[in-house]
Amino acid sequence: QNTINQIAAGEVVERPASVVKELMENAIDAGATAITAEIREGGIGFIRITDNGCGIKREELPLAFLRHSTSKIRSAEDLLTVSSLGFRGEALSSIAAVSQVELITKTGDSLTGCRYQIEGGQEKSLEEVGAPDGTTFISRNLFFNTPARRKFLKTAATEGAHVADLVEKIALSHPEISIRLIVNNQNKLHTSGNHNLKDIIYTIYGREITAELLPVSVETEMFQVSGFIGKPSIARGNRNFENYFINGRYIKSGLIAKAIEDGYKSYMMQHKYPFTMLHFTVEPEYIDVNVHPSKMELRFKDGEFLYKTVCQMIQGALSGRE
Ligand code: ADP
Ligand code: MG
Repeated sequence: QNTINQIAAGEVVERPASVVKELMENAIDAGATAITAEIREGGIGFIRITDNGCGIKREELPLAFLRHSTSKIRSAEDLLTVSSLGFRGEALSSIAAVSQVELITKTGDSLTGCRYQIEGGQEKSLEEVGAPDGTTFISRNLFFNTPARRKFLKTAATEGAHVADLVEKIALSHPEISIRLIVNNQNKLHTSGNHNLKDIIYTIYGREITAELLPVSVETEMFQVSGFIGKPSIARGNRNFENYFINGRYIKSGLIAKAIEDGYKSYMMQHKYPFTMLHFTVEPEYIDVNVHPSKMELRFKDGEFLYKTVCQMIQGALSGRE
């Protein structure tokens, strides 16, 4: 059982940033309006995610960590065949399999909270404690029991940079949630949760970028998009500044990238890429989601229409400038 959990964990938990991603997504799913991510030693030594979401009921606590661990996966071979189905219900068990986990949680309708400890998949304790509503999840010493995996980690600085990138993306995808990042006891990021995307861009990218943005928005029956695009003057030599989110998720899409880049085509030098921060809200019936272990693939029904609309929206904003 432990070995199987460790193998499964390898698919979900590659590095500290993957732990932070899963835990912050859980916090978002729990309806949190404020989430704090704190790391030390690049997250290898210490990760703490605190949210003010719905909490986990005491009787559901051990289940949350065990779910799917036996029912779905019976052998390492099985694991390969089910992996393409995604990892629903596998994050907590995976993180607990490869680190030392401490969780403090309280639901709104309970008087006391619970503290639960599980290390390398072994339950250590479950006790009542006083706690605010919400959940605090701590993961210590990632891969402490799988030295081979630990060897693949980069330096604390590099792993920490991956965590920071990820937390920034999450902050940008959810302007309605106040997000804070603390690295080695220092505040690195704090968004207000006041729904203002431009404030978050300012916080992360600074004044020069923020001064060169054009607002865009379009609404169609199939989707709605709004956000900001950068003037060609702040173009980059790589695609790192091409950001777009679909229904609150940071994703990559060849179709959207092409729509953006073609929209800029006559305004931009070759091999330059724009700054964009676009939030798409798409009706689920227009998207096919294919979740893979390592990536999320999206296909749009009537992608042609989406392409054209986005391309024209960008051309319109750029041609109207100054
Ligand atoms: P999944 O998110 O796919 O359901 P996870 O392993 O990530 O699987 O989480 C298992 C379950 O634990 C969730 O379905 C949820 O019920 C509960 N849970 C996890 N994190 C939180 C949290 N921060 N707040 C409330 N409930 C949580
Ligand atoms: Mg989850």
